[in-house]
Amino acid sequence: MKHNVNQQIRLKNRPTGLPKAPDFTLVETELPGIDVNQILVRNRYLSLDPYMRSQIAGRHITGAIGEGDLMLGETVGEVIESRNSDYKQGDMLVLNGGWQQYFISDGTGARALDARIDPASLALGILGMPGLTAFAGLGILGQPKVGDTLVVSAASGAVGSMVGQYGRTLGCRVIGIAGSDEKCRWLVDTAKFDACINYKTETVADGIDRLCPDGVDIYFDNVGGETLDAVMWRLAIGARVVLCGLMSQLSSETRPAGPNPATIIKARATVRGLVVFDHWQRMAEMVETFMPLVKSDEIQFLEDVSDGLKAAPAAFERLMCGQNFGKTIIKLD
Ligand code: NDP
Repeated sequence: MKHNVNQQIRLKNRPTGLPKAPDFTLVETELPGIDVNQILVRNRYLSLDPYMRSQIAGRHITGAIGEGDLMLGETVGEVIESRNSDYKQGDMLVLNGGWQQYFISDGTGARALDARIDPASLALGILGMPGLTAFAGLGILGQPKVGDTLVVSAASGAVGSMVGQYGRTLGCRVIGIAGSDEKCRWLVDTAKFDACINYKTETVADGIDRLCPDGVDIYFDNVGGETLDAVMWRLAIGARVVLCGLMSQLSSETRPAGPNPATIIKARATVRGLVVFDHWQRMAEMVETFMPLVKSDEIQFLEDVSDGLKAAPAAFERLMCGQNFGKTIIKLD
């Protein structure tokens, strides 16, 4: 069978705000013959993912898609012609085949579809990249323990539903946050979450207060924004927060005020809350470590000393507006 024409979806205009179907265009291109080492793949399933919104905005870590460019995306495809000895006709692959019918490749980045994955589309979802996101995000970064209260947003999606269900199998109590009663019903009745907050009919704050009176041990965030803020105020001591997605800001042209989860996601950073009293028993160890360095002038210090108790209010005022220079001390008579 001859394959001459390839249908592709390309980006027509960079959208502002939420992307709309007319921002994309269908084009037909001539399909060239394949060269030595190449394979011709017929894409069977294409994955659409939220990160594509960032690619077309030109701000994703994997690169940018410009106007007129083919839309990129992971596919499950079948090798229909091969001039590469590693592949034969009929092989099923998972690869970055893009928003198009056919893909010519030398096999770079392709992996064989595990034949047990049925339907094959699951290799793009819960048994593919989103599944791995849940597996690594919860299992490694979330450090789940039996009895933990786990909250996950965008809970009915591929990532969120796997986070919650994996958490359940690990002994967590699982609360989902989702945007409709229908999604919440599926999460509780079918995916066996313990409960679900529909944030369109109840605030996340009220929902967490109602369902997690002892606070949230693990929060897996897929959205950022107000949802993240509401859950953060309700963390239990020792909580772990996994910042995964940015749904609330992906289609926004401006950045919301305040620290942005994107900075932490991009840097794979770890952010820890510190309360010194938790480390009080290390006081002597600290003194032993620093004392010789202070004595040898390796470490310098500054003190901002005021005389007499009466000077305390004014010194405090200076401290709080940055007029102090060094450790503020009141020398008492
Ligand atoms: P989903 O199928 O969960 O789709 C996204 C969902 O986000 C929507 O269905 C919607 O559900 C919810 N949502 C919440 N707030 C908004 C909003 N303001 N606008 C639009 N949707 C909103 O997608 P995935 O499971 O594929 O991905 C979930 C998240 O995981 C995404 O943020 C994605 O970017 C992230 N991700 C991160 C990875 C990483 O490496 N860090 C890798 C893979 C995915 P609802 O109706 O419940 O609000």
